[in-house]
Amino acid sequence: MSMLSSRSHVIVLLMLARTVAAQQPSIDQPPLWSARPDVDAFEKIENDHLAAAQRAIDQIDATKGSRTIDNTLAPYDEAIRQLNAANYFADLMQELHPDESFRNRATAMTTKVSNASTALSLNRDVYHALASLDVSKSDAATRYYVRRQLLEFRLAGVNKDDATRAKLKKLQDQLTTELSTFERNISDDTRTVQVTDVRELDGLPQDFVDSHKRGSDGKISITTNYPDLFPVLQYAKNDDIRRRLWSAWVSRAYPKNRTVLRHIMQMRRDIAGLLGYSSWADYNAADKMIGSGSNIAKFISQLDAATRPPAKREFATLLAEKRKTNPAATQITTYENWRLNELVRRSQYDFDSESIRPYLPYAAVKQGILDTAASLFHVSFRQEMNAPGWDPSVETWDVIESGQMTGRFYLDMHPRPGKYSHDAMAQVLDGIRGKQLPEAALMCNFPEPTATDPGLMSYDDVVTFFHEFGHLMHHILGGQQQWAGISGLTMEADFVEAPSQMLEEWMHSPQVLASFAHQYQTGEPIPAELVARMNRASAFGRASSIALQNALSAISYDIYKSKPADVALDATTLRDLSHYTLSVPSAADGHLYASFGHLGGYSSAYYTYMWDKVIAEDFFQQFDQTNLLAGDTPMRYRRLVLEPGGSMSANDLVKDFLGRPQNTKAFQQWMGEEFADTRQNE
Ligand SMILES: [Zn+2]
Repeated sequence: MSMLSSRSHVIVLLMLARTVAAQQPSIDQPPLWSARPDVDAFEKIENDHLAAAQRAIDQIDATKGSRTIDNTLAPYDEAIRQLNAANYFADLMQELHPDESFRNRATAMTTKVSNASTALSLNRDVYHALASLDVSKSDAATRYYVRRQLLEFRLAGVNKDDATRAKLKKLQDQLTTELSTFERNISDDTRTVQVTDVRELDGLPQDFVDSHKRGSDGKISITTNYPDLFPVLQYAKNDDIRRRLWSAWVSRAYPKNRTVLRHIMQMRRDIAGLLGYSSWADYNAADKMIGSGSNIAKFISQLDAATRPPAKREFATLLAEKRKTNPAATQITTYENWRLNELVRRSQYDFDSESIRPYLPYAAVKQGILDTAASLFHVSFRQEMNAPGWDPSVETWDVIESGQMTGRFYLDMHPRPGKYSHDAMAQVLDGIRGKQLPEAALMCNFPEPTATDPGLMSYDDVVTFFHEFGHLMHHILGGQQQWAGISGLTMEADFVEAPSQMLEEWMHSPQVLASFAHQYQTGEPIPAELVARMNRASAFGRASSIALQNALSAISYDIYKSKPADVALDATTLRDLSHYTLSVPSAADGHLYASFGHLGGYSSAYYTYMWDKVIAEDFFQQFDQTNLLAGDTPMRYRRLVLEPGGSMSANDLVKDFLGRPQNTKAFQQWMGEEFADTRQNE
């Protein structure tokens, strides 16, 4: 390849950054804390934030005479800044502090902070003060900020009469309780399938078989937890064990959550009605990119049309695979998809995901992720030794641009007892231009290198790392605003995943991977041929999985789009699964809503994942496909998509970057990629 490798690209940028070491004033960002404080010091920091927020709110109330940006919006934003700082810090300590009693006190603090935030969102005096602001002479970002805050106030019901507000408050409180019951019913209901004959586990990896010993009753128990579920669905040769485990999995929290979900649907419908919306889906969409419930329906059917042709081609391949052992087969039942996909990947793509791990030792991956991000976003990173984190293993890094520090992040990357157990990005401070630098943290659970173990990562971990790092960069690069309330990731909730889903594509690039993925013993860069084989294998099954996601989006919408009395939960679930996927659901699949946790938090907005994937692929096609780090697109993307943060509508920044609204063309190309690649090879 004749292009600059990403690594040398980074070096050039670092040198440039050094030579223009600027004289501009910079913020001297104090460390989050000067030393690792005890829990009393933590609580004092938190209470100081809450007191400062209250002082700012009092200042708005005390103002007489005409409302100005200075006497109203500025203290309002100060209250937001203080509440967010308190909220982020308490959350972070609740998830990450090594000491359990510290974590528990942090949990209590999150409730205290959340109550203060709720009180502000229902503060009528503050709403009226903001509503009477004349922003006609303000800049566009300030106008947008005020307009959006007023919408959020109205969606909370702040401008309704006392009786309505009392009803809303009661409904919200009940809803909170029912939602946590819905979630707890799911997490509490791990089901088990018993195996008497070990031959039923044929096909599963030996370490799986070894770790599932017979119990005192002589039976082997397989649970519905992911580490059991997916290997069984994928590898077990025995059809019966796969079918039984799948049925157990889709039946979790059933029938308990049937009643709970009915209550949730009714309360949400009532809330929407009191606020003047004809359905919960419409109400929930009001502050999002998509705008209305009918647009959700439109998006789902558009995506369905785009997905059907490639899904049909995949279906034909899967059915041919099934006919190898069952020549008369004409259909595929939902649970069979995992097994058939695995068989197709093996027989047609010759790819074993274990073969890639030796190229992915943690330390090299971390450096590679930092180098790739530095090159793409035109910044550099410097480890900060004088700003300690909450655990000795936490690294603190500064983001440097033109010699100036523009943000800070913390890397808490390996498992610890009691630590948050998934992978995520967390905000730490909102960035405010000239006042406060943005800070964020990654909380992950990747393998930890030791003296004898290089900490080999799975390929999926690497993709996740860059995805989460993308959220972090978005928060920091979008964190140079005038106001905390429009800083970083404060944009519409159905846009937040688009930039990070786009970045996942960088980790599929043979060129980007070869810049850091070197075999840990020999130092050999990962062969482009292996990456190509991996990409082809992972592309197979895309359309079928999108079809399933689309079915779930439709279920999420259909459950909240009309009067709860008109929705038959089992029938709606079965109808959407049959309509959007090419597989045949079994009767048990009709209970799936009971364990579909997103029906709680996301409610009607499960479409978000696919909506953002469509935008992500459209964005991605704007980059130079022969060198993803080259040209001026990365900088244009940074300027037009990331830097605005929440200072303008996401629909507008999409249009600014693409020159038009997003469409599904690139997404369709992405779904059909595997077939294009296969043809090239034949
Ligand atoms: Zn994400």
